[in-house]
Amino acid sequence: FGDKFKKPKGSWDCATCFVSNKAEDSKCVACQSEKPGSSVPVTSSGASAFAAPSGELLDLDKFKKPEGSWDCEVCLVQNKAEAMKCVACESAKPGTKTEFK
Ligand SMILES: [Zn+2]
Ligand SMILES: [Zn+2]
Repeated sequence: FGDKFKKPKGSWDCATCFVSNKAEDSKCVACQSEKPGSSVPVTSSGASAFAAPSGELLDLDKFKKPEGSWDCEVCLVQNKAEAMKCVACESAKPGTKTEFK
């Protein structure tokens, strides 16, 4: 035994699903987890949230909402009162007559 199971050099096992991946894979082929120990580029700039297309930022407490505006329950984007659907994910506005039953 032993030698036959020698892994190709640089191969790695996914910490999430234990699938064995090749050295050149930077993500698990099965679950797309990042390769452990790879230099994951930490994007410091991209971390800031989701701005609504209008440019309003989601700043929950101190941001006074325009009258009648509503927050999408699905993606938490704030929508204008007159929007009947979320501008981002197109979920129906909560409390409208669209019912799922
Ligand atoms: Zn995996
Ligand atoms: Zn939404």
